[in-house]
Amino acid sequence: MKEWALDLHLHTLLSPCADNNMTPAVVLGRAQELGLEIVAITDHNTAENATAFLDKGREMGLKVFPGMELQTREDVHLVCLFEQLAQVMKWQEIVYEKLPDLPNKKEVFGEQWVVDQKGQKIREVERLLLVGTTLSVEEAVAIVHQLGGLCIAAHIDRQAFSLWGHLGGLPQDLPLDGVELTPHLLRQPEQMAQIKKEGFAYVVSSDAHYPDSIYAPQCFATLEEASLAELRLALKNQAGRSVRTLR
Ligand SMILES: [Zn+2]
Ligand SMILES: [Zn+2]
Repeated sequence: MKEWALDLHLHTLLSPCADNNMTPAVVLGRAQELGLEIVAITDHNTAENATAFLDKGREMGLKVFPGMELQTREDVHLVCLFEQLAQVMKWQEIVYEKLPDLPNKKEVFGEQWVVDQKGQKIREVERLLLVGTTLSVEEAVAIVHQLGGLCIAAHIDRQAFSLWGHLGGLPQDLPLDGVELTPHLLRQPEQMAQIKKEGFAYVVSSDAHYPDSIYAPQCFATLEEASLAELRLALKNQAGRSVRTLR
């Protein structure tokens, strides 16, 4: 077993409000330079850049989980992680069906680029991505699990777009795989107590939309290998697998 440095929430230049420099070489290059060993690519309501980032990660020897940051009907953000490209593509198909068919507001959200492994622009996604889907939190978690993925409630220590902010706490009966905290925010005692009480694991992730906002490692997992199955065990603190954060 070995301890791996991870960041499970990174955006690419496909995300609304993300920098157009967030190409595979820049994002993964910066991550590797900082010492990260496992990352996840989680664009808003889309996974169209997963192929390019997985290919680039393989070339660089950096483990990349294909993922997505879903916006639910309640405007809650969920980080959805998968092992295989086919799983995230199936998930994207479901999400696209549940996403209102509206045009992107470029003046507000900027351009949304699908790129290849080299970062060459292939096409622009013209539909609005930063908007709530019609999937509820419960439905989303259930479908992600059916597809073999993991579901982590994003940035619960922020008011906007968070499970805690919108639902006022952590629902007891929601089978989340973990919750995510923000590197630079103060830990709130009440929140930390409820996380502990509900038995949720927590991770700390960058949620970077810009190259400079990718953090040096804040979160570590002890795993046999860099796989989603191992991460699932670590989030449950089972079979000697575990997750540790700097704070
Ligand atoms: Zn978010
Ligand atoms: Zn995000």
